[in-house]
Amino acid sequence: MEQITRKAYAKINIGLDVLRRRKDGYHEVRMIMQTVDICDDLTFERTAQSGIVIRTDREELPVDGNNLIYKAADLLFQEKGITEGVMITLTKRIPIAAGMAGGSSDAAATMRGVNELFGMGYSVRELQELGVKLGADIPYCLVGGTMLSEGIGEILTPLPAPPDCFLVVAKPDINVSTGFVYGNLQADRLTYHPDIDGMIEALRAGSLSGVTDRLGNVLETVTVREYPVIEEIKELLRSKGAENALMSGSGPTVFGIFKKRETAEVAAQAVSNRQLAGQIFVTTFHEGAE
Ligand code: ATP
Repeated sequence: MEQITRKAYAKINIGLDVLRRRKDGYHEVRMIMQTVDICDDLTFERTAQSGIVIRTDREELPVDGNNLIYKAADLLFQEKGITEGVMITLTKRIPIAAGMAGGSSDAAATMRGVNELFGMGYSVRELQELGVKLGADIPYCLVGGTMLSEGIGEILTPLPAPPDCFLVVAKPDINVSTGFVYGNLQADRLTYHPDIDGMIEALRAGSLSGVTDRLGNVLETVTVREYPVIEEIKELLRSKGAENALMSGSGPTVFGIFKKRETAEVAAQAVSNRQLAGQIFVTTFHEGAE
């Protein structure tokens, strides 16, 4: 086998709580992660010449050792002492620096792809243990689906998928760094915590309203103050029929949950008409990483 293709799916957080800041600077989280049907495509090709070469359709992305794809391939090459090379072609659709784990998902897809292409024989569990060194979301991205994510993000418990519904995902044209958001979060001063346990119960009961009534993300305390457009999009989505709306991860992407595709499409158009977001998708949840 000389060439294979893998998809890297984006995630949203339907619940995101921060319990505390640890002494080492990491934050202890309690999040409910959900894969959505927006993906990047990655093609992996063995090359006789040694080294890792990345090609991408997005010129703002690094193609050197700063790309998470490079780091993921390099990690596995080092572990297994591989002297051949690989050419990786990335077609990017997941919004960049958006709170949708695009880079982590590309890294996870790279670990799976390189593992298979070079017959390395790693189990998913082993890839998760290696991947967490590159990023806290990578263990989740290797499996995807609906998961409770605890610790720094590496302790994963599978949950039932939410009932079928439609999503509007809107990324405003602002850049929000994850470091800035966590750096400005006053974890010990939070007066509100999302009802993660209640949401788990709602997922087990298959109740969409139980889920949408409990959407919550403590990182909004930092971003909404700084970027009012986030709240503006949430309000617009709700006024156009969303069951509820929330910012994903450290933002700035906002999603709204809808019962009907037609309603979601009208709401997406409204966000576009008001020029609140440059990247807008109408999509659904997706089952897992593959
Ligand atoms: P998270 O939800 O994990 O915080 P994110 O959606 O906020 O992720 P990413 O899109 O993963 O952010 O990328 C953040 C930064 O990482 C970008 O500014 C980019 O320069 C760099 N980066 C490195 N590799 C990649 C990649 N493969 N895809 C996207 N960004 C990458």
